[in-house]
Order: sequence, then structure tokens, then C-alpha cells
Amino acid sequence: MMEKELCIRCNKPTPYHPETPITLRRYFVEGSGQLCPFCYQELYGGAGSLESMYERDLGKQPEREEK
Ligand SMILES: [Zn+2]
Repeated sequence: MMEKELCIRCNKPTPYHPETPITLRRYFVEGSGQLCPFCYQELYGGAGSLESMYERDLGKQPEREEK
């Protein structure tokens, strides 16, 4: 099972696994929890290159679904 931390706002999976140290995560809000990049930008704003940031984060995960 590839469990991932879910966004506390929209419940979509984030690029991070539950065992990922908080210090290594982006979009983590102390006192609230893990947000996905999209909700994080909505709540806090951010640079325009969010999509590429998100893809880069996802690309770091060595996971591939074989059919
Ligand atoms: Zn979200």
C-alpha cells in the first residue's frame, strides 16, 4: 500500500508519505497539518511556478504503477 498524507483541506493525496519528516515537507502548516500544494497556494499565495514545483515533488517519488 502506498499511503500518502492527505491534504487537510481537500483530502487529496499530497506528495508526502506519513513517515516523511515534517522538516522535509513543503506545504506543512504547524498546528494544522499537511496541505496539498494547491490549497497551500490558495491559503498563502505563492509563486506562479506551483505546477512545476508539484510535478518536481511527485517526480521525486520512486513510484510507478505497473499494470
Ligand atoms: Zn488540498
